[in-house]
Amino acid sequence: MTLLEGSVGVEDLVLLEPLEQESLIRNLQLRYEKKEIYTYIGNVLVSVNPYQQLPIYDLEFVAKYRDYTFYELKPHIYALANMAYQSLRDRDRDQCILITGESGAGKTEASKLVMSYVAAVCGKGEQVNSVKEQLLQSNPVLEAFGNAKTIRNNNSSRFGKYMDIEFDFKGSPLGGVITNYLLEKSRVVKQLEGERNFHIFYQLLAGADAQLLKALKLERDTGGYAYLNPDTSRVDGMDDDANFKVLQSAMTVIGFSDEEIRQVLEVAALVLKLGNVELINEFQANGVPASGIHDGRGVQEIGELVGLNSVELERALCSRTMETTKEKVVTTLNVVQAQYARDALAKNIYSRLFNWLVNRINESIKVGTGEKRKVMGVLDIYGFEILEDNSFEQFVINYCNEKLQQVFIEMTLKEEQEEYKREGIPWVKVEYFDNGIICNLIEHNQRGILAMLDEECLRPGVVSDSTFLAKLNQLFSKHSHYESKVTQNAQRQYDHSMGLSCFRICHYAGKVTYNVNSFIDKNNDLLFRDLSQAMWKARHPLLRSLFPEGDPKQASLKRPPTAGAQFKSSVTTLMKNLYSKNPNYIRCIKPNEHQQRGHFSFELVSVQAQYLGLLENVRVRRAGYAYRQAYGSFLERYRLLSRSTWPRWNGGDQEGVEKVLGELSMSSEELAFGKTKIFIRSPKTLFYLEEQRRLR
Ligand code: ATP
Ligand code: MG
Repeated sequence: MTLLEGSVGVEDLVLLEPLEQESLIRNLQLRYEKKEIYTYIGNVLVSVNPYQQLPIYDLEFVAKYRDYTFYELKPHIYALANMAYQSLRDRDRDQCILITGESGAGKTEASKLVMSYVAAVCGKGEQVNSVKEQLLQSNPVLEAFGNAKTIRNNNSSRFGKYMDIEFDFKGSPLGGVITNYLLEKSRVVKQLEGERNFHIFYQLLAGADAQLLKALKLERDTGGYAYLNPDTSRVDGMDDDANFKVLQSAMTVIGFSDEEIRQVLEVAALVLKLGNVELINEFQANGVPASGIHDGRGVQEIGELVGLNSVELERALCSRTMETTKEKVVTTLNVVQAQYARDALAKNIYSRLFNWLVNRINESIKVGTGEKRKVMGVLDIYGFEILEDNSFEQFVINYCNEKLQQVFIEMTLKEEQEEYKREGIPWVKVEYFDNGIICNLIEHNQRGILAMLDEECLRPGVVSDSTFLAKLNQLFSKHSHYESKVTQNAQRQYDHSMGLSCFRICHYAGKVTYNVNSFIDKNNDLLFRDLSQAMWKARHPLLRSLFPEGDPKQASLKRPPTAGAQFKSSVTTLMKNLYSKNPNYIRCIKPNEHQQRGHFSFELVSVQAQYLGLLENVRVRRAGYAYRQAYGSFLERYRLLSRSTWPRWNGGDQEGVEKVLGELSMSSEELAFGKTKIFIRSPKTLFYLEEQRRLR
């Protein structure tokens, strides 16, 4: 392997000299221009999206990488997948593969490459193949329902995903478990210009035959639906019709019955049709504004589609029942409130359908209890986000990234420490930024921002986004990672970029200003009981099962946990899961904003390198010894530098390495001899060795 600078830059950034943000990006650029999209930082893989099909993923490559160890061939995602898989199979260590990066950077493609590599090298036989097929086919299903065209990515995952793949002791796959995080459900009712709703709607309209469309009471034309952006119905290079067939066949492979598939499509159709329910102003006899439905046909059809009384649905959309212990009061909604209720219902149905799909897939791929198994987890989750307007969603996404950074630093350092211990080398203390203080600011059980938000959501009396903000300002006025207009004014800083309704957090990756508007609402995530009760009354088994709280017998159930509390708890579970495994990292980078091949924007990549903490990553990696290699392979490469070891050497590997380095009069500061490996402190020493090799 050519580790060192040549026409394609260094293959491992740990060897970069000088080490600066600028040289790091230049190195990635140099490689990208030569179509070398992969670069290492030690055992971390950095991947720059090529936006073109490279001929590096075929079976020949699979065969090549499965026979070599990590550093022997060029950096490649297969090398990482292979290392993880072999270590799981042969050393019985559970693995996780953490893939991060911003939208369009190539996370989902990377996760699929890892899965297909592992599928190609693990186990054989009919039973095993059918498990593999089911695991792989979960992708098209989740992508149909969870992905959408956005401005940044034509196939953007609008949810986070973690998948545990489970293997038996021989390394053959048994099944798996998928966990999903925070679907962007607002997309169901509204999309930005140039974006689309979730793929499923277009696939359904393009791919369903006339009979199915009729049964679902749909028209083929996407222009006829209020929930579908009229100006973006097609995506270049994406065949919705063909993808619908792919979806149906994937669902069948996973084990969905025809009846289940039909019910799923009916619920999707219901969402589309809900969007077309037009609400209008009406007035009650006493002149108070109320709302009504413009044209009863739509509601009628919905009723027929899912076995629901249309009068009841109309009532649920246009009025609200308040129950106290003593009485029931029905109030009418004005048109704005009724539209809000309709959209809330559509979003809820869709996100519950998505959760149901994940659970249903899990039922098919789950592994029976009792069997001891080895696990490989693959995490494909949204990277750190700074948008122009950052809201609750960005807040929780960035919280998750803050936690992932914490895992990363802790585990990398721990791994380094363990390796030194294994090799019998004294540990060198590494200085690094500990982001525990930021994690705490957000997640502390009593005094964290999420706890404050919950407290405000549950507090009786008048609560609003601004009372929430006031509380934060009071509590965190002196916190070194918290800022707001109020805390700034108190310190006589006048920063015009900060709005009155905002707070700012100094994350490890940079400062982000969050607008508190709708934090309370999004955290509450409540669906009015009239709506859940109406859905529960539907005769449609799937729809009904999505709204268990609509059952009047359940009416006194405790309030469901808030969105923030749910997210925090799933992040906590995820972290526990990751800590129990050996981590492997893939850091994905998007080279330009235009989804274009061959174009590398230095500025754009710099920002991502900062969010991904790449420089810090390299620093931590080489804080002790930048380079290490097993004595055998080191000797093989450098033995020509010493007359004792060249052309023939009959002694042991370590002794040979000592001879080579001794003859070159290396400073002892620079070297450490471990039990199985030689450690070299600075890249310069390695460059020197390479230079000497070239001169021979
Ligand atoms: P999001 O966060 O929006 O889901 P992502 O990081 O998952 O984004 P992907 O969907 O994996 O991004 O990649 C975006 C597009 O980039 C893909 O649809 C594909 O066209 C291209 N792409 C990514 N990785 C590769 C690759 N290794 N080879 C070829 N094309 C790729
Ligand atoms: Mg994705």
